[in-house]
Amino acid sequence: MGAVEPMARIVEVATARLVRKLHTPFVTALRRTSEVVSVAVRLTDADGRVGFGEGPQVWRVTGESLASIEACALGPLADVLLGWDPGTEPASYAADALARAVVGNGGARSASETAVLDLLAQGAQLPLVRFVGATTLSVATDVTIAAQGDFGDGVDASQFGQVKIKVGLDPADVDRVIRISQQSPGRPVRIDANQAWDLETASTSIEALLAAGVTLEFVEQPLPAWELAGHAELRRRWGVPIVLDESVFTIHDLHRAIAADSGDIVNIKLAKCGGIHAGLAIAHEATEAGLGLMVGSMMESELGVSAAAALAATISPDAVHDLDAAWWSIDTTDTGSPYRAGRFVLDPSPGSTHAAGRVIPDTLAWSRRAQGQ
Ligand SMILES: [Mg+2]
Repeated sequence: MGAVEPMARIVEVATARLVRKLHTPFVTALRRTSEVVSVAVRLTDADGRVGFGEGPQVWRVTGESLASIEACALGPLADVLLGWDPGTEPASYAADALARAVVGNGGARSASETAVLDLLAQGAQLPLVRFVGATTLSVATDVTIAAQGDFGDGVDASQFGQVKIKVGLDPADVDRVIRISQQSPGRPVRIDANQAWDLETASTSIEALLAAGVTLEFVEQPLPAWELAGHAELRRRWGVPIVLDESVFTIHDLHRAIAADSGDIVNIKLAKCGGIHAGLAIAHEATEAGLGLMVGSMMESELGVSAAAALAATISPDAVHDLDAAWWSIDTTDTGSPYRAGRFVLDPSPGSTHAAGRVIPDTLAWSRRAQGQ
């Protein structure tokens, strides 16, 4: 993490709703989405510098809503940040102070912490990704497709080298995975059931896929989050790598998953763990325990995905991550798109305001809270 020196006090916290239309509906076992609405958090310091972060609404995974993110960011988290000069403490201070202020609310905390790190990175004249410790400016990402649904109609996802197929909605999903796999013989596929299967369904599905010659790179979260023993049983029975996503929000969840031998890889998301510092801590302990790492995101814009990609570039620069979320709302002919040749490319300018500039229109309606209010 980059060094810091006194900068200026934070004088305003503001939130606004970001609405982005998707070019293709996004379908998982948990929901069907045709637009992305999230909350942008903006911090302004006494020198007029602004830092941004993004918190996604994810009712069925994190339980956060647009209203709860706004209330949290403008309430207890603003109480922590207003009047404080982020340059006067180590860069990890904000994450710790925000985590002490509220239980849960990972998306709101992550948005606020990212905005602080954006200010600090600008003060250090570094892009956020370098400020948090990465040496690379881009990471590879898969593209997530629905086994069910209308993916593929007029959408060119060919730039992505790896696909992750969402399953669990329908017993026929397994046949669809086999068909998709047969279109690229020998290429490993990723599948993600988003907790939709029980042990027996997961087991028979994996058996059918293996019997059909599908090479499974991994099976992500086949069972409900709390089914740690069931995940361990699937690993033993089939020898297929298991990714834990919804099972691991915090470092304490990770400890329980490691003790139960439940997974091979952990999918770290800022809205689950609460921000980049918490993500770094989870990555460190997972690596110590011999687990692989990937970074994912919720359905959010380039702003939130940029922060996730900064974490990904720091903890596992060579992995293929799960950071296609913003691609679904970007015009595929957009030459400024951060998605290039299957990679998410971070901007080299100080802070992360380039992403904010692309995503945040001047017309956005901000709810503001100033110091002393
Ligand atoms: Mg997942």
